[in-house]
Amino acid sequence: MQQTRVDQGLPYYLKFIAAYPTIGDLANTEEKEILRLWQGLGYYSRARNLHSTAKFVDQELNGVFPNSYEDILNLKGVGPYTAAAIASICFDEPRPVVDGNVFRFASRYFGIKEDIGRQKTRTIFEMILSEHISRKAPGIFNQAMMEFGSTVCAPSPDCKQCLFKLECIAQQKNLQNQLPVKTKKIKVRERFLNYLVLHDGSNFLMRQRDSSDVWAHLFDFNLIEGKVGKEEVFAGTKQLLGHDFLIEEESKEFQHLLSHQKIKAVFYKIKLDPQQIKNVKSDYGEPYSVEEIVNLPKPKLIVNYLEQIGIKS
Ligand code: SF4
Repeated sequence: MQQTRVDQGLPYYLKFIAAYPTIGDLANTEEKEILRLWQGLGYYSRARNLHSTAKFVDQELNGVFPNSYEDILNLKGVGPYTAAAIASICFDEPRPVVDGNVFRFASRYFGIKEDIGRQKTRTIFEMILSEHISRKAPGIFNQAMMEFGSTVCAPSPDCKQCLFKLECIAQQKNLQNQLPVKTKKIKVRERFLNYLVLHDGSNFLMRQRDSSDVWAHLFDFNLIEGKVGKEEVFAGTKQLLGHDFLIEEESKEFQHLLSHQKIKAVFYKIKLDPQQIKNVKSDYGEPYSVEEIVNLPKPKLIVNYLEQIGIKS
């Protein structure tokens, strides 16, 4: 659920549990299927890590999930937040969970002015909270901390109703708006993608993305990246195809926000004859029928475009 709202994640969780009731079921599934089920939730590395961790637990740990913070932390894709959440909620280990909501509540309550963007600040919070965490019910304590930070001690806190208003340092010193301290701003990179939607009426050329960029292992169309004019897009397409072509349709501009990127995309639909589609080098993708496309894992941006041209996937 990290970086994701519960109401957004819950339907996915339920679908996952229904599709893969055990670690073994998850381990023995193809990555493509898992990514398809994850489609639309974003942060796809979480799905890939979940899959490789399931395989590791299934094959190397005889299907038994580790039950201590340190061992859970060694699993791929698991950081201190997830390890503490699992260790405390599932195994009653008193390890404090520190997420954005806990940072906010604890920084105000204790009057901590350290910059929460710095790694060593997390350690400070963990040390302080380790002294306070319930030994009897650490899982409930952690869930209460996260919930309290998201509901009462929210960005605009409800101090009048707050149980802790008498002892809270931020309330005493009127520091609610200054805490938590966060100086580092996320740099958002703007990207322009010119997608080439090559098709022959019934098959579309799609390719699986590699691991070097966002949306690793998901499927999209060939593209020319950059804020380039149509001439460059046409020239690039001609080079790819090796012959002339006609743009059938140019889409409106789509915008898609990721945590560190703002993506603007235009889709150029280009109709070829079936032989021409077959002649496009396999490096540029494979032809997929509409029925097959529906089952491929795709970034939300591609799903949105496909919907616009009448393919619900
Ligand atoms: S008094 Fe206000 S700032 Fe302090 S913990 Fe409560 S809600 Fe947060």
